[in-house]
Amino acid sequence: MMTSRVDLHTHSTFSDGVLSPTELIDLAYRRGVRIMALTDHDTTDGLAEAFAAAAPYPDLTLIPGVEISTDIPGSEVHVLGHFIDWQNQEFQRRLLHMRQSRLRRARKMVDKLAALGKPVSWERVQSLASEGAVGRPHIARALVEAGHITTVNEAFNLYLSRNGPAYVEREHLTPAQVVEIIVAVNGLATLAHPRDLGQLEEFLSQLMTAGLIGMEVYYQDYSPEEVQRLRAVAERFALIPLGGSDYHGLGGPQEREPGDVPLPEEPVERLLALARERGALEAV
Ligand code: AMP
Ligand code: ZN
Ligand code: FE
Ligand code: FE
Repeated sequence: MMTSRVDLHTHSTFSDGVLSPTELIDLAYRRGVRIMALTDHDTTDGLAEAFAAAAPYPDLTLIPGVEISTDIPGSEVHVLGHFIDWQNQEFQRRLLHMRQSRLRRARKMVDKLAALGKPVSWERVQSLASEGAVGRPHIARALVEAGHITTVNEAFNLYLSRNGPAYVEREHLTPAQVVEIIVAVNGLATLAHPRDLGQLEEFLSQLMTAGLIGMEVYYQDYSPEEVQRLRAVAERFALIPLGGSDYHGLGGPQEREPGDVPLPEEPVERLLALARERGALEAV
């Protein structure tokens, strides 16, 4: 596939990605990406390094971003925030709270695995997460290392997916609250990877009231037919059809390299125009 010049969804070691922000930006730039967002889970701690890494590339625009997840009955909902005023103190306080909640949740999942006869060391999970926001991929890697299974994907399929025996729900924020948290820091909120969400349209109405402006349409292994369906939904709701690779560097069947997503320029221009209107583009 041709590399897109834009990638609005990536992860680094500051959450559950395997590349540091510097390595990630160098890789994306080498691949031809010229507009990119770092969207780590529940943290912006990688952004300072990312901006330093982007500085030597005058033709690279780095968008400060974040991805915040919530559970709803039956599925999970992830929301991306782009052009966030990430240094806002109240916002940082909220993110810290979310990361502390991630630690409690991961600990419970590790306890469940032990009860299932698949023990992994909590210290090892924490050290895999290093300075970053801990998540299921870290537990999955610990399971592989412990020899219980052979791939991260298998860890999700057998234990850690939403319906898996070691899954633990997040402590609750509603998706609308997540959108509001992003909007409160002047961010542009986009619903991430919506393909498998039931009652998508009902849900979109609620999120648009909270301030949602976009929806991921171009994403990883979404087929042309799925893209077309989601594009039509986005159009009906006047949401900008965005997307990204969601690169983590973990390997596996869905993995795409940075920029490896058929995101057209036109919706990106609309996102940038909104950011410009809010004075957020000059601030980057
Ligand atoms: P958490 O934020 O702890 O709930 O973990 C969710 C993260 O796990 C997602 O953001 C994905 O990056 C990753 N993930 C979900 N399913 C899989 C899978 N089958 N294989 C690898 N990573 C996955
Ligand atoms: Zn992730
Ligand atoms: Fe996600
Ligand atoms: Fe993601």
